[in-house]
Amino acid sequence: TVNQEKTFLGHPRALFILFFTEMWERFSFYGMKALLIFYLTKYHLFSDDSGNLLIGSYAALVYAVPVIGGFIADKYLGFRKAIVFGGIMLVLGHLGMAYEGNAATQSVTGEITRDNLALQVFYFSLALIILGVGFLKANISSLVGELYEVGDKRRDSGFTLFYMGINLGSFLATIICVWLGEAYGWSYGFGAAGVGMFFGLLTFISGKKLLMGKGESTNPVFLEKKSLGLKNEWIIYILSVLSTLIFWQMVQNHSAVSLALQIAGGASFIYIVYYAITQLDGKAREQLIALTILIVFTIVFWALFEQAYTSMNLFADRILDRHIFGIELSAGQFLSFNALFIILLAPIFAWLWVKMGRYNPNTAVKFSLALMLVGLGFGALVMGINVSGLGKVAAIWLILAYLLHTCGELSLSPVGLSAVTKLSPSKIVGFMMGVWFLATASSEFIASVLANIASVDTSNGLAPDLNIAKQSYLKLFEYLFYTGIGFGVILLVLSPIIKKLMHGVDKELNN
Ligand code: GLN
Repeated sequence: TVNQEKTFLGHPRALFILFFTEMWERFSFYGMKALLIFYLTKYHLFSDDSGNLLIGSYAALVYAVPVIGGFIADKYLGFRKAIVFGGIMLVLGHLGMAYEGNAATQSVTGEITRDNLALQVFYFSLALIILGVGFLKANISSLVGELYEVGDKRRDSGFTLFYMGINLGSFLATIICVWLGEAYGWSYGFGAAGVGMFFGLLTFISGKKLLMGKGESTNPVFLEKKSLGLKNEWIIYILSVLSTLIFWQMVQNHSAVSLALQIAGGASFIYIVYYAITQLDGKAREQLIALTILIVFTIVFWALFEQAYTSMNLFADRILDRHIFGIELSAGQFLSFNALFIILLAPIFAWLWVKMGRYNPNTAVKFSLALMLVGLGFGALVMGINVSGLGKVAAIWLILAYLLHTCGELSLSPVGLSAVTKLSPSKIVGFMMGVWFLATASSEFIASVLANIASVDTSNGLAPDLNIAKQSYLKLFEYLFYTGIGFGVILLVLSPIIKKLMHGVDKELNN
């Protein structure tokens, strides 16, 4: 049969609709996240500890809710409708962030007065963003997968392109939103994120035709049916919007988030074990065990990697000499190096794995490499602090750390997504993808608890003493260096066993 599908760069044209939608979604997400720790500590005068924990709780919910959003899309809405709904929530959430109210003030006795209305609007905006990402993030990735037939060789390169779109958005955001936030005020930085997401939503809606019916609900009859005088589709939207009330409270209650993560993690683990014992045997069972072990190790990777938005961001603000080639960057703009390195290196890594042929290391070895690389990134920071004498740390050390972290990310993140789709039994791929993101969710929370090791006391309202601050960061980064290397070595030792359990499935990865 003749393939009627029109392509661009050899890929279905719909890929580029998803590329640009996700680019804008990540633009809004990372633009806001880059400003967040400074907004909390400098504008609302949060301590480092409470700022870190708030970011940890928020980011944990952001990555946990896609499990639910994915489930609802699978069963009822379909990916396309879920993405439109998520997009609308995101535009509202980011625009809500643009309301800034009054800055907190500190009296001579140290007492802090905060604008509670502004804070509640802020928490509610976070809740809208959590709901929005929950409906959008996993579903747009699944929709990318749907553009290709089973066995289509273009699938992995399609995902590589998509991952570059993610990072193009992140790159632009960490430059533009951070600059706007700093030069014109928080509302402008956060507002720009909202405008970006609005473009993303427009892109997605206007590209509907190019999707050619992909991502539609598998259950349209159910959506049209009325209960209590309302279409089921609308009942889903209304209940989802109401769920923001729960997220609104949860972002303000860190122990509730921690408890929810433990329950969700424990329940998922029990379900996987139950499923492996009762539904699977032989090869399929062992492959699921291998995947589960790999996912557990990703928790460590992301817990280290995600220091970027808390401790590493504050480090860049307080201790780094931020000049490169005579230009001074803002602290948040250093985050753009991660995105830039991804854009430059993703095609090279994809090419390299293929080129290595039968020497292409298996997934477990790649994950162990990722852990060591993220550890080494902190090693670079330790070194940078140690050679800095009495002055600030040279910018090159943080850039080097991001380079190493990015190489780690490329050995784990795209490879891991691919591994999830190939090692899970087909009936629970969606669920296992959810578990993959749930692992990231736990990491985000753990990352913020770890970041508190480096918290600097700013309660007197003065800028922290350079050397005291340096010692705090040194302690944290040393610890993370050993953690990365240690877990990397453990996984390397385990890798021959995991390789056996995978039964050669990962041989076809990344081809
Ligand atoms: N940076 C990637 C993204 O935003 C991966 C995030 C993750 O899985 N923790 O999609």
